[in-house]
Amino acid sequence: MMQMIVGNWKMNGLGAASRDLVTEVAQGLAAMPSPPQIVICPPFTLLAQLAPMLKGTGILLGAQDCHQSVSGAHTGDISAAMLADVGVEYVILGHSERRRDHGELDETVREKATAAAAAGLTPIVCVGESEDQRASGECQDAIGWQIKGSLPDGFSGIVAYEPIWAIGSGVPASSQDIADMMAFIRAELVRQFGATGKTIRILYGGSVNARDAATILPIAEVGGALVGSASLRADTFLPIVRAAV
Ligand code: PEP
Repeated sequence: MMQMIVGNWKMNGLGAASRDLVTEVAQGLAAMPSPPQIVICPPFTLLAQLAPMLKGTGILLGAQDCHQSVSGAHTGDISAAMLADVGVEYVILGHSERRRDHGELDETVREKATAAAAAGLTPIVCVGESEDQRASGECQDAIGWQIKGSLPDGFSGIVAYEPIWAIGSGVPASSQDIADMMAFIRAELVRQFGATGKTIRILYGGSVNARDAATILPIAEVGGALVGSASLRADTFLPIVRAAV
């Protein structure tokens, strides 16, 4: 399966600079003989203006969240159908920053994943253990519970393993930690979803940079990367894209 590199811009990006970034990434991609699948996830405010620019570039559009309801009295929220309406195809759900900043629980993430799929979007559901959970040897339990709680029945989206302690730290998890957790997540997915569980793409996220991408991306079961800060510049994002296998 072709790998996938997803750029999570988080709460970054104004119009002009973001259009320049997309142009540069698209140019870099056009020069690659067999590029991986690229998804960029800008903030909501940029989706409608970037969508037309992506046509024909091979770059797909993702969002960083959606509400679990179809419509209604949810001031400030955005529904999955609204995202689909402006050309979004993927949506990141349950990112640890949303779990932290907005108190999102597994149950809410599961409802969001259901709503996203119903609107035709592919959910990218994030799971990841805290530093404390890893230090106390509970990281597999934590991930197991998050998978059980955050993925709805019939899930056919993407899972992103993002250890919270690696996000934004500048240091990704070790290859051994990633390999161990990938094997564990795959086994959990197969246990929960049977044959479908074998086909669910698993991304690694947490301080992926150009240097480490070449080591991380070939690890067994790694189907690509979810990239935060390095996705904000073409000269840090494109080398990661080139490292995809
Ligand atoms: C993220 O938060 O999804 C992420 C992977 O961030 P960074 O690459 O900056 O660690």
